[in-house]
Amino acid sequence: MPMSIKDRLRAGTVLGAEGYVFELERRGYIKAGPFVPEVVLDFPDAVRELHREFLRAGADVMVALTYYAHREKLRDVGREGDLEAMNRQAVRIAREVAREGGALVAGNVCNTWAYDPDDPATRQVVRASYAEQLGWAVEEGIDFVISETNDYLGEALIALEVISDLGLPAMVTLAPTQPDKTRDGYGYAEACRILAAEGAQIVGLNCDRGPQTMLPLIAGIRERVDCAIAVQPVPYRTDKAAPTMETLRSPDGERAFPVALDSFVCTRFEMAHFALQARELGVDYVGICCGAGPHHIRAMAEALGREVPAGKYSPSMDLHPMFRADVAAKDAAFLHSWMG
Ligand SMILES: [Zn+2]
Repeated sequence: MPMSIKDRLRAGTVLGAEGYVFELERRGYIKAGPFVPEVVLDFPDAVRELHREFLRAGADVMVALTYYAHREKLRDVGREGDLEAMNRQAVRIAREVAREGGALVAGNVCNTWAYDPDDPATRQVVRASYAEQLGWAVEEGIDFVISETNDYLGEALIALEVISDLGLPAMVTLAPTQPDKTRDGYGYAEACRILAAEGAQIVGLNCDRGPQTMLPLIAGIRERVDCAIAVQPVPYRTDKAAPTMETLRSPDGERAFPVALDSFVCTRFEMAHFALQARELGVDYVGICCGAGPHHIRAMAEALGREVPAGKYSPSMDLHPMFRADVAAKDAAFLHSWMG
C-alpha cells in the first residue's frame, strides 16, 4: 500500500507532474485544438511511457489522463461512444505504472466548458459529467481526485461535492487566467478559502501562468488558507506584460499559444529554482502543468533533495570532454571556437 496523500503531505513536499496533453500532442498522439486524449485508446503504450518517464523523474502521483475525456469534448471529436472505455483505460494505465514505483493514482476532472453561472440547468450537466467520469475512476481504483483548471468557483464546488460524495480526498485548483479573480468574481485566495471550508484537502492554482507570475498569487493564497496548497504552473516564461501562456506573443506579434510556445520554455534550472521558491512559500504540493517534460520534473525532484531513478543519468559535466578539468590539449581548440 503506498502512503496516502494525507500522510505524504504531512511528511513533506509532494511532487506532482502533469502536462500529459501538451507532451503527447508534441509527440504526435493528440490533436491540438480539441485536445481530447484519444491516445488513451489509440496508443496506450505512449501514455504508459510518459507516465513511466514522470515516475522515474520523481513524480509522487500518476494523474490519470482523463483531462477533457468528458461527454461534451468527446462529442466534438465524434467519440462519445468511447467515453467509458477511455476513462477506465486511463485510470488502469496510471495504476499499472504507479505500482512500479509506489506512486499514488489521481483521478482527474477539469473545467467542462458547459458551466454557465447564469444558467442553473448547466449545474446538472456538469455534475452528471463529473459523476460518470469519477464513478468509473473509483471502480478502476484511484487514491484521490484532482479537479483542475477551474475558471469558475461554482464549477469547482460541483466537482468538490461529487468527489466528497465518493468519499475521496480532493485537490481542487483554479486556472488563474485573469489578473486576480475567478470568472464568477471571487478573488483567487477567497475562492481557495471557500473550497477549503467546503472540505477540499488541497487547494491552489494550476496551468496558464508560468512560475514568475503564479508565485505572487500563491503567496496570497498561503496567507488565507490553513489546509495544504498546490501550485502547478506551466513551464513558460510569463511576465508582467504577458502573465499567462495565452498572452505570450512571438517577436512578430503572433499568438504563441498553444503550439508555438517552444521559445518560451523554462530551463530545468528555472523549474528547479521554482520548486525551491514554492517550498519556501509553504506550498505543500509542488508540480508542473502544460509544457512539462521529464527533465523539468527530475530537476525539481533533485532540487527538493530527492534521489530518483532517472537521477542515474542526471548531468555530469565533469565527464564532458570539453568541460572537464583536464581538457586534452587537442580538444582545447574546440572550446576556443565555442566562445563565439
Ligand atoms: Zn496545464
